Amino acid sequence: MICPFCGGKSHVMRTRQRRDGSVLRFRCCTECLRMFQSVERVETRSLEQPLRESVKP
Ligand SMILES: [Zn+2]
Repeated sequence: MICPFCGGKSHVMRTRQRRDGSVLRFRCCTECLRMFQSVERVETRSLEQPLRESVKP
């Protein structure tokens, strides 16, 4: 993931699984050494919608 402060590369320091299934990642930038978090979430509902619409003529 790209650093939101300088646009450099970052690496994951820690990963934590939440109760709702999402994954919280603590990242550290290799360029400016600042830390930030990112959340990874599975969303099935938003993916089903466009697929159904594309099937219709
Ligand atoms: Zn950075």
